[in-house]
Amino acid sequence: MYLYNSASHKKEEFIPHEPGKVSMYTCGPTVYHFAHIGNLRSYIMEDALEKLLRYAGYDVTRVMNITDVGHLASDADTGEDKMLKGAKREHKSVLEIAQFYTDAFFSDCKKLNIKYPDVVQPATGMIDDYIKVISALMDKGYAYFAGGNVYFDTSKLEKYYVFNDHDEEDLAVGVREGVEEDANKRNKNDFVLWFTKSKFEDQALKWDSPWGVGYPGWHIECSCISMKYLGEHLDIHCGGIDNAFPHHTNEIAQSEAYLGHPWCKYWMHVHHLNTSHGKMSKSSGEFLTVSLLEEKGYDPLVYRFFCLQSHYRKGLVFSWENLDNARAAYDKLIARVAALGTDGEVDQAAVQEYKDRFVEAVGNDLNTSLGVTALYDVLKADLSDAAKRAVLDSYDQVLGLDLLKKADALKEQQAAPVEGAEEIEALIAKRLEAKRAKDWGTADAIRDQLKSMGVEIKDTKEGTTWTRV
Ligand code: AMP
Ligand code: ZN
Repeated sequence: MYLYNSASHKKEEFIPHEPGKVSMYTCGPTVYHFAHIGNLRSYIMEDALEKLLRYAGYDVTRVMNITDVGHLASDADTGEDKMLKGAKREHKSVLEIAQFYTDAFFSDCKKLNIKYPDVVQPATGMIDDYIKVISALMDKGYAYFAGGNVYFDTSKLEKYYVFNDHDEEDLAVGVREGVEEDANKRNKNDFVLWFTKSKFEDQALKWDSPWGVGYPGWHIECSCISMKYLGEHLDIHCGGIDNAFPHHTNEIAQSEAYLGHPWCKYWMHVHHLNTSHGKMSKSSGEFLTVSLLEEKGYDPLVYRFFCLQSHYRKGLVFSWENLDNARAAYDKLIARVAALGTDGEVDQAAVQEYKDRFVEAVGNDLNTSLGVTALYDVLKADLSDAAKRAVLDSYDQVLGLDLLKKADALKEQQAAPVEGAEEIEALIAKRLEAKRAKDWGTADAIRDQLKSMGVEIKDTKEGTTWTRV
């Protein structure tokens, strides 16, 4: 398998640290609001990667944090804690909103067929580990105490910027725009490991530490959670592209300073879901959720299908028109799967060949759109219907589109006797007669009558079809 590695800026053959095993860490949600469908694009693509690795035979352990403290309004450690902001907005406690939005997040994940990670760790549950690692960084001379906070000293590193070749000044300005300089920092990129002083004195959750009562910085959470569950050598670290700097850059700085050796081998970044106004973001307050898609009548899996159709390293533009196109394609695909019988031999050797081809195609830097194309190739292939179903079901272990389940449900629905069907069929036949007699008035009146009964008709080459609306 090949994966683009943001750290080396190229596509590399994927070779895990331990043969056959993959350790995978994903930055989890900051639970001060609902996840938007942009966040969920990242989680869908990461889920596809995890499932592809399992499909290819790797034993994967996936860990995710839940950011319930320390993520400030600016990723560069300034502003109010996002959790506190959320709690104020809803007149609830930080722990209440953390629980509520964590549950909401996993409920959305379930609807999108995103597998629950092997380990989910809320950041507030690991305070002792942060203190241990920060103390070690202090001892090694990588951290300093200033103005009540503990900072990581980026000047101690040979290389700080890992993911981009941008001009350092430009990057620093980009992150700091509109926020005040922190005079305690020795170098412009230094970041907070532990806060005891903040302009926002009403920080809800605080813990005792060798540096005073306070709370951890956001970046240290992910390093410690990953190291605790996945050890000193991490295979894949994932996140949205906005996490590359400063979050992941800082994670690498502190983890490698602590460990004294390289830490994570492959960095996988999912590019953004954009709207016509730019990146979809929680802080802008204008965003779409899975519940909203459902309210508008979309199956959440249509959104998954929409995401899988494009490559994770390209920005994806959301529009209702694009989603409608994905829905039409998904419905058609399910109908084609439903049209398959269950008869015929399953040629296991042929099935295996199809599986291998799938791993090769999708395993070339998680090319999920080729994975979707492969479904149509199977439908057209010279295989028995039973074998086609077997291959489709197997591909679906990675794509997660519920193909057979939805197709079987559709079949059942089509086969079930429908109440009032006789009357509807009779009216349709009468309308056909009227149309043949060029009696358009009667034909239209029958269409209206059916509509008032909640039935919509469609004239096709094969005849008139009807559905209840
Ligand atoms: P947050 O809940 O803000 O910590 O973000 C959760 C995940 O969603 C992170 O991996 C972000 O990088 C990612 N993310 C945020 N906005 C978008 C977006 N518009 N499109 C794709 N991923 C995003
Ligand atoms: Zn993280």
